[in-house]
Amino acid sequence: MNVIPARLRSLQDRFAAVATDTLAPRAQQVDQEASWPAASFAALADAGLMGLHIPKRLGGLEEGLSGLVMATETLGQACASSALCYGMHSVASAVIAAKATREQEERYLEPIARGRHISTLALSEAGHGSHVYLAETELRRDGANFLVHGVKQFVTNGGHADSYVVSTKASESNEQGEFSCLLVDKTSPGVSWLEPWKGMGLRGNSSRGMRLDGVRAPRANLLGNEGDEVWYFFQVVAPYFLLAMAGTYNGIAQAALARAIAHVRERTFSHSGEALSRADIVQDKVAALWGRVQQARLFAYHAAQLGDANDPEALAAILACKVSAGDTAVQVAGEALALCGGMGYRENGAQGRFLRDAHAAPVMSPTSALLRLWAGRLLLGVPII
Ligand SMILES: Cc1cc2nc3c(=O)[nH]c(=O)nc-3n(C[C@H](O)[C@H](O)[C@H](O)COP(=O)(O)OP(=O)(O)OC[C@H]3O[C@@H](n4cnc5c(N)ncnc54)[C@H](O)[C@@H]3O)c2cc1C
Repeated sequence: MNVIPARLRSLQDRFAAVATDTLAPRAQQVDQEASWPAASFAALADAGLMGLHIPKRLGGLEEGLSGLVMATETLGQACASSALCYGMHSVASAVIAAKATREQEERYLEPIARGRHISTLALSEAGHGSHVYLAETELRRDGANFLVHGVKQFVTNGGHADSYVVSTKASESNEQGEFSCLLVDKTSPGVSWLEPWKGMGLRGNSSRGMRLDGVRAPRANLLGNEGDEVWYFFQVVAPYFLLAMAGTYNGIAQAALARAIAHVRERTFSHSGEALSRADIVQDKVAALWGRVQQARLFAYHAAQLGDANDPEALAAILACKVSAGDTAVQVAGEALALCGGMGYRENGAQGRFLRDAHAAPVMSPTSALLRLWAGRLLLGVPII
């Protein structure tokens, strides 16, 4: 079912060509080796697709949340690790673009649009875990610079991105939740990398710890204003991040179901001469799964359109649609694997990969549990945090 808004379809053809030609043939290797998908980034750059959220006047595509859902869902059907990595780059570029100064446009946004610069988010820390809107990493003023001290965890694209959107807390502040974002360049003295963390799924993401040991960043690298926390987190970081992940999970669910449908049509029993697709229970199951996938996709596009239109209900819809996409991917990947029987359950098979990839949804923050809490609070008029 084509639920993609008509104005995005020609752009989707460009993402689909990269997904088919470059991501799909390498997806199994990326997963097995837990290798960062360098070929995916090179192909996306060659196709002029790295500046999804960069303004056209700077050479980008100037797409919003709907474009992000389309891009990650299209890439996620071929290789969810690549969709995650591209999604984190796109979220970071949207965060930079939201209040970029002229200097930031020249140093970051124009190279991103040209496919010469990768960015990513470094928010998570061991202390706060899934409460990613908090930061303990310290920001101290030092003349024309800031000094940054702390350790970030699970930084996707870690070591490969050229810049990192790092969340920090002013060293003199005791207030919980006080939060400023600034850009740290890969080459800054004082940046070092911890051992890569290898997940059960979404394995090709180079997610690793980043130590910032007195890293000096020019004041010009601050994004927005000091203490902008709520504006950054709930207006920009969360909507873009959640829709990137909703698209990725919807891509996984579509791919798992498509493989299961192909399998049950081909699998034929010798005793009856009939294909598995002739079994009533299989027909019932396929219809139910298809309905769930389409609901999750429609919800994600609807939420993205509300977000793009600055609709007052957008945030609740964005929070809830990511829960729906994650739950759907977990359920559909599990049931699609079962429909493929022993072929589905085999070691290093695609259905096993879809299932492991989908299971990041309840773990990767903002987790489904936190999103339900936040959406409920919003709908009830209770402060989110
Ligand atoms: C594949 C992958 C990629 C990632 N990439 C990035 C990245 O690029 N950048 C980045 O900054 N981070 C990234 N992360 C980190 C991620 O966003 C989380 O911060 C991290 O997974 C939290 O792990 P934790 O073990 O500390 O969870 P914990 O905080 O210990 O939480 C454990 C469980 O308890 C639940 N929980 C915690 N508090 C509450 C509460 N008050 N109410 C209800 N439930 C609660 C959580 O929902 C979770 O299910 C990534 C994670 C994964 C898995």
